Amino acid sequence: MVIIECPHCGERNQSEFRYGGEYNPRPANLMEVSDAAAADFIYMKDNKWGVQKEWWYHRQGCQAWFLAERHTRTNEVVKTYLWEASKE
Ligand SMILES: [Zn+2]
Repeated sequence: MVIIECPHCGERNQSEFRYGGEYNPRPANLMEVSDAAAADFIYMKDNKWGVQKEWWYHRQGCQAWFLAERHTRTNEVVKTYLWEASKE
């Protein structure tokens, strides 16, 4: 059983959440980058082996999107926190 700590609700079973994908910040100038760079941002994933930053959604709780750092091999969730624009 995987336990994820929602920043609002605390520790809950993973079944209450929805995985939202790897954290991949949008380039500020996406319309000005090359097609290859835009395609890389949209379609390519790092698929890391180790701790990866990713989006999670608490669908059966507070309905908040937040970030989690999870080890992709062990599923250990190292930490969770709300996204802040100032920390990009
Ligand atoms: Zn919550």
